[in-house]
Amino acid sequence: MSHSDILIIGAGIAGLAAGRKFTKAFKNVVILEAAERPGGRIADLEDASFPGPVMLGAEFIHGKLPLTLALLKEAGVGYRAIEGRSVKMTGGKIDQTGDEDIDWPAVMDRLGALEEDMSLREFLSLYFGDDKYQNLRDAVENFAKGFDAADPSAASAMALFREWEMEEDEQYRVDGGYGRVVSFLEGECLLYGCEIHYNSVVKEVNWRPGFAEVLTADGRRFGAEKVIVTVPAGVLQLKEDAPASILFYPPLPSRFDAVQDMGVGPVIKIILRFGDAFWEAKTGTNAGFIFSKGVFPTWWTQSPSQVPVLTGWMAGPAVGEYSGAPDETILELAVTSLASILGMPSTEIRSHLLAWKVGNWAANPFSNGAYTYPTVAVPRPSEILASPVEGTLFFAGEAAYEGRYGGTVEAALASAGHLLDESLKYETSDSN
Ligand SMILES: Cc1cc2nc3c(=O)[nH]c(=O)nc-3n(C[C@H](O)[C@H](O)[C@H](O)COP(=O)(O)OP(=O)(O)OC[C@H]3O[C@@H](n4cnc5c(N)ncnc54)[C@H](O)[C@@H]3O)c2cc1C
Repeated sequence: MSHSDILIIGAGIAGLAAGRKFTKAFKNVVILEAAERPGGRIADLEDASFPGPVMLGAEFIHGKLPLTLALLKEAGVGYRAIEGRSVKMTGGKIDQTGDEDIDWPAVMDRLGALEEDMSLREFLSLYFGDDKYQNLRDAVENFAKGFDAADPSAASAMALFREWEMEEDEQYRVDGGYGRVVSFLEGECLLYGCEIHYNSVVKEVNWRPGFAEVLTADGRRFGAEKVIVTVPAGVLQLKEDAPASILFYPPLPSRFDAVQDMGVGPVIKIILRFGDAFWEAKTGTNAGFIFSKGVFPTWWTQSPSQVPVLTGWMAGPAVGEYSGAPDETILELAVTSLASILGMPSTEIRSHLLAWKVGNWAANPFSNGAYTYPTVAVPRPSEILASPVEGTLFFAGEAAYEGRYGGTVEAALASAGHLLDESLKYETSDSN
């Protein structure tokens, strides 16, 4: 059995950031990663049929996020503001009606005044239940579904308010994709002497204060004084017989009961590479986002880059019925959806299509969902996850984050940032 000071489960951005931090602090660190690549939900594929990396996972920087931008700077990677008009479209016609009947400030004021939590749906029916608010209710629910991948009947109204009031308008894209930052961190980890084992699915963590033994699916054993668990909350929710589920012994019942009540939203993302930007005949030039009521309701271009690529996004409860569908079926759905949005026959859309890729995060065994959202049952997931167990088990990653940027790369980086201080606290108290 190999032995290390720190064993990290998961080589996503949180695991790699933690790995780098601890190896730089002269700790002996081992990372076990289930997949054959680093990055987890940052999943940039290189495929010669596409003009750049195919970003199946994280793509945007949602505002001037301090840790993300600092890391980009350190890695020498640039970023740029996304551009383009947002259009609402059905049957090939741009919907010129504004959102006058959707009084967002009134919704935010009412949300901000809530004294008792309730689901977003309950909130809407209680305060905006009248028929005249139908469009408003749909718009607010669709935002929660599309942006937070949330189920409005479970999502916490008060917690969503905290997140939405911080929402920044400017969005950015990483030059060449977030995968470049993953490669930078992986390189730094290896440079400072961290061991990274890919294709290593952790199945068991047997622990006692001060020591843990970690077992992989193929029977390897790793001992460590401290274990940092960065797997997604969706993985922590898995039943014992799932390929990536992890059994803790002794178990952590109160923590894991609460984990079951966390919101983990599903997302299916599809990236279509066309021969030309044929949609501009309908949307006009310089379209950034296309919103619709289709099965794939949200689409975006790579503006300001002019490459003929469209990305389709389906998130929240609507994913449910398609989560187990083969990629070919998802492609068919996406093409049909785009055809009805643009008012063109599917065959015409297909005639422009050169290549496609699907990121089905509901079906990904090492993710089991896209990212967390706050529920009425667990409005602050970090309170459940982030507290260490006996100075031996630590939880980090997007779900273990408390703050304004939940469900993002920034959240994962922030959660990893606290770990070194947290674990040193225990070393100090141990030595006392
Ligand atoms: C479709 C999609 C789009 C997104 N878009 C954005 C965006 O535009 N901007 C943004 O900021 N964020 C976005 N996010 C969220 C962002 O990607 C995540 O918050 C962040 O990457 C999470 O990092 P992490 O290290 O916490 O988890 P992960 O990246 O999930 O890393 C956890 C690692 O654990 C591994 N693992 C799982 N089970 C086991 C096991 N049993 N044994 C060993 N290893 C295991 C996984 O393979 C994975 O590599 C998006 C996410 C998705 C899915």
